[in-house]
Amino acid sequence: MNSFEALDLYAPLKKALAEQNYETPTPIQAQTIPPAVDGKDILGCAQTGTGKTAAFALPILDYIGHETPKLYPKSPTVLILAPTRELAIQISDSFAIYGKHIKFSQALVYGGVNQDRQVRALKRGVDVLIATPGRLMDLMQQGHIKIGSVQIFVLDEADRMMDMGFLPALRKIIAQLPEQRQSLFFSATMSDKARELSNQLLYQPVSVNVTPESPSVERIEQRMIMLDRGNKFTFLKEVLSGGDVEQTIVFTRTKRGANVIVRKLEQAKIGALAIHGNKSQNARQRALEAFRKGKISVLVATDVAARGIDIDGVSHVVNYDMPVEEESYVHRIGRTGRAGRDGIAISLCTPEERSELRAIEKLIEMQFDLELPYGEVQPAQPKPKSSGRGGARGRGGYGGSRSGSSNSGSGAGGGSRRAGSSGKKRRNGNANGRKAAPKSSSRAVARQR
Ligand code: AMP
Repeated sequence: MNSFEALDLYAPLKKALAEQNYETPTPIQAQTIPPAVDGKDILGCAQTGTGKTAAFALPILDYIGHETPKLYPKSPTVLILAPTRELAIQISDSFAIYGKHIKFSQALVYGGVNQDRQVRALKRGVDVLIATPGRLMDLMQQGHIKIGSVQIFVLDEADRMMDMGFLPALRKIIAQLPEQRQSLFFSATMSDKARELSNQLLYQPVSVNVTPESPSVERIEQRMIMLDRGNKFTFLKEVLSGGDVEQTIVFTRTKRGANVIVRKLEQAKIGALAIHGNKSQNARQRALEAFRKGKISVLVATDVAARGIDIDGVSHVVNYDMPVEEESYVHRIGRTGRAGRDGIAISLCTPEERSELRAIEKLIEMQFDLELPYGEVQPAQPKPKSSGRGGARGRGGYGGSRSGSSNSGSGAGGGSRRAGSSGKKRRNGNANGRKAAPKSSSRAVARQR
């Protein structure tokens, strides 16, 4: 699947995607969207940064766009569960962007804030409810939300939810969903617990598995610099002026952050370009070519934009911001040390980013010698358990246990369980091949149960 044009999606969605300069579906999108639009359950193994939000948001908006489900107070048509408030907000933002040309309503429900506004929004009735499990349970118990007629249910970052202790809440929530529904399940890892939960939730799912590339990091020297945020840029400039530096990729967490660094580097007379999701495919391609040909020596990238960058001469990777997803660390540093050459990966870690550092250490089963910007080294503490391999400074370490950048699970091409709209039938419902369920019919069926 190499363009969104080729996907059978509601035209106003395609328009919004074009406005976002999205041209090509990511692997998870290419594999998830067609079966999900057909109403099938999905078992998706993918992490943040792969484009998984659009992989479920687009089929949902496609459904709403075509069927215009009737709104009922307190009873959302679509329920999306996310582990954290931040992720819930991000999902909601994505719905607003992709659904820009569609008439639909959404509400966000998360803890830590007064519930009154959330309750008022629910009373009016919403198409899409995005919620964290704790607050959702609270509001359900108070009678403010009823999930008995949900048509599409999404569980995002299932493994993280279980790590956070949400399993009992999830079980209770799932028990109240109607039997006739479509369920989309996403998890970065497929632990036994995640698999067990997915079995409980899904009906003949289509499996989609998008694993990150597995770099060979034997040739990469990994360094971890502890410093304050305010010192990061000065330190970056010093790294870039080092004699051994040829081509460098700098990773930032946000698109804005990437732009700011490029601007500052330009002021410092260091040629740099940014690649991120707000740049058109052409602009990204141009930046990559300039970098590949050595016209510029620094590329500043966000995780998703850097996916698949395969350039041999990258001598350094700098993690200007620590990756939020620890798996991205392995993916990022693998941009160097390619084609039989050595590489250096330098991560800049502030005291606030220590939890990200710990997560990375756990993933790669190594502990870093922590360096201060000007040479002092704090050697890694020996680990109590045998897993520790000592400090990560120096080469070697994680060999990467995953393989393949994208391998599609085969899946048992399941049937649809959405009430009143049975996948293919929904799709082939009328002469022009579009779904023809009379407005609100699917909800009506759900309600009669
Ligand atoms: P996610 O994994 O859903 O958090 O998405 C990560 C980032 O990728 C978001 O900033 C999206 O805007 C961006 N993105 C998702 N799909 C595409 C696509 N097909 N083309 C370009 N950017 C995308």
